[in-house]
Amino acid sequence: MILVLLGAPGAGKGTQAKNLIEKYGIHQISTGDILREAVKNQTETGIKAKGFMDSGDLVPDELVIEIIAEEVRRGCCVNGFILDGFPRTLAQGVELDKVLKKIHLQIDHVLDFEIKRETVVERIAGRRTCKSCGFGYHIRFSPPSKDGVCDKCDGELLQRADDTEETVNKRYDVYKKQSGELSGHYEKSSKYHKLDGESGVEEVFAEIVKILD
Ligand code: AMP
Repeated sequence: MILVLLGAPGAGKGTQAKNLIEKYGIHQISTGDILREAVKNQTETGIKAKGFMDSGDLVPDELVIEIIAEEVRRGCCVNGFILDGFPRTLAQGVELDKVLKKIHLQIDHVLDFEIKRETVVERIAGRRTCKSCGFGYHIRFSPPSKDGVCDKCDGELLQRADDTEETVNKRYDVYKKQSGELSGHYEKSSKYHKLDGESGVEEVFAEIVKILD
C-alpha cells in the first residue's frame, strides 16, 4: 500500500502516520524528519537545506526528490509506505509518479488534510520537545507540570526553530501557494480523499481506516 498524505504543517499528517504504522505496519517516509536528521548530522544535503527550513521556505525540489528516490531505491518498504510531507509541489508530484512507475508501483490513496491557519498556528507554535529524551508537549493541550522542564527526565524543553508563530505563518503561506495545483494533480482520481484536519485524532483516524479498508 502506498499512501500520500497532503496538508499544511500541523494538519495531523505525522500523527496519523504514527497511527497507520501501528495498525498496518507500514513504513513512514517523512521528508521533514529526514531533512532535520541531515541538518543535525551536517551532511551535504543538511547544509544546503538548513537555511530554507529555518525560514519556513521549501527546500529546492531536486534535493527532496533525490531523498525520496533514494528511499524508494533502498526498497525499505515491503508492506508499502506512507509519504508524509512529500510531494509538496506539483513538480515533486510529477517526479514521484515517474519514480514509482520505474519500479512498477503506483499510489493507492492520497489523503488531503484540510485545516485553517488559526488552528495550525495554535497547534504548532505551542509544541515543545525535550532536548534529552525527545518527549513531546504542547503548552496548552498537554503542558509539562513545570514550565520548560520535561516530566519524564527533567530535560530542557525546546521549541523547533521553525515552529515560532512568524515562521508557522510563513510555512502556511508557502503551503497555500503550492497546494492548489498539487491537489489538482490528484483531485480527479478516485484515489483522492479530503479529510477534516480540524476533527479530533480518533475521528480522523476512523475516517482513514474506513477509506483504506
Ligand atoms: P515538516 O516537518 O514536514 O513541516 O518539514 C519541515 C521543513 O522541511 C519544511 O518547512 C521545508 O523547509 C522542508 N521540507 C520538508 N518536506 C519538504 C518537501 N517535500 N519539499 C520541500 N521542502 C520540504
